[in-house]
Amino acid sequence: MSDGFGLDHLPYGVFVTEGSAPRVGVRYHDRVVDVATVRPELDHPTLNTFMALGPDAWARTRAQITELVGSEVLPAFPLDAVSLLLPFGVGDYVDFYASLDHATNVGRIFRPDQEPLLPNWRHLPVGYHGRSGSVVVSGTPVVRPCGQRKAPTEDSPTYGPSRRLDIEAELGFVVGVGSELGSRIPVGELSRHVFGVVGLNDWSARDIQAWEYVPLGPFLGKSFATSVSAWVTPLAALADASTDLPAQEPAPLPYLSGGHALDIAVEVVLNGEVVSRPPYRTMYWSPGQMLAHLTVNGASTRTGDLFASGTISGPEPDTRGSFLELSWGGKEPFAGGHTFLEDGDEVTLRYSAPGTGGGRITLGEVTGRIEPARP
Ligand code: MN
Repeated sequence: MSDGFGLDHLPYGVFVTEGSAPRVGVRYHDRVVDVATVRPELDHPTLNTFMALGPDAWARTRAQITELVGSEVLPAFPLDAVSLLLPFGVGDYVDFYASLDHATNVGRIFRPDQEPLLPNWRHLPVGYHGRSGSVVVSGTPVVRPCGQRKAPTEDSPTYGPSRRLDIEAELGFVVGVGSELGSRIPVGELSRHVFGVVGLNDWSARDIQAWEYVPLGPFLGKSFATSVSAWVTPLAALADASTDLPAQEPAPLPYLSGGHALDIAVEVVLNGEVVSRPPYRTMYWSPGQMLAHLTVNGASTRTGDLFASGTISGPEPDTRGSFLELSWGGKEPFAGGHTFLEDGDEVTLRYSAPGTGGGRITLGEVTGRIEPARP
């Protein structure tokens, strides 16, 4: 069965069946394998206890589960017989802006008469601290946010539901082993700290964002919801997805040199129709560079910290990872007249990558439906 959930993948999640306590499970094809008996750290309502053990324990456990999962030794449940919960307790959440094409497109849309990239962009991975408390698991409805909006043509702001609700197709990286306050994580040590990867949709209210973001950056236009996949793909399953970074010019400062891109294909699905195919391998900054930059000032990291890539956009129009870009600021409707999200719209982000077995693996998808603003 080539569904992308074979022995070369085995992503982790947290599930619950009726009358039982939430615990860690592993997806194998269309079943959730109950691995709580494999080691005590998996009999927990989040992945954090297991993730904190570090890369040697991750590798040993993965080898053990690989041996057991195909046998009938461990209990397993059909996917539709379980509920999937947020797989990890989210610590700090940082969102980057690592796609050259996305940053260039946004610059052209918002500042058409200026250089699209700001002077710092090619020197450091730009990011902001987001809100971990509103990170939700795939399938959680997204209520249209209200807030202050002011179009450039209006004299003063008004309050009401966002009229420019958007998606951002991203990848998220989950920290397993943290780092001490005052220490730094070098680019090459990503795999000693990052446990795995999730699909991530950074829902964004463009009208709220445009009015509030100067001078301190994104705030309420982003913090109302961030969706992540129910399945965390271990970094080990992406070993063959590693590829060269695009050329970085000028060369980054020494603490940012090195790192690899990931060859992950993304699909943006709107109400059942694929509307874009962003290629993660085109991202300018690597995950290792993002983590090195996040800690270069000595900021500590903890188990469960989440950092996201920023919107994934490629160079072609049908590889853009946000509706802002797909509709070019709302001026060019796409996919049968769409600009921004309508109530009832459902967006699913799908991800796939080369697996270590010669085929492809399917990362956990991220889905969400827009509910009307609350009065
Ligand atoms: Mn984002």
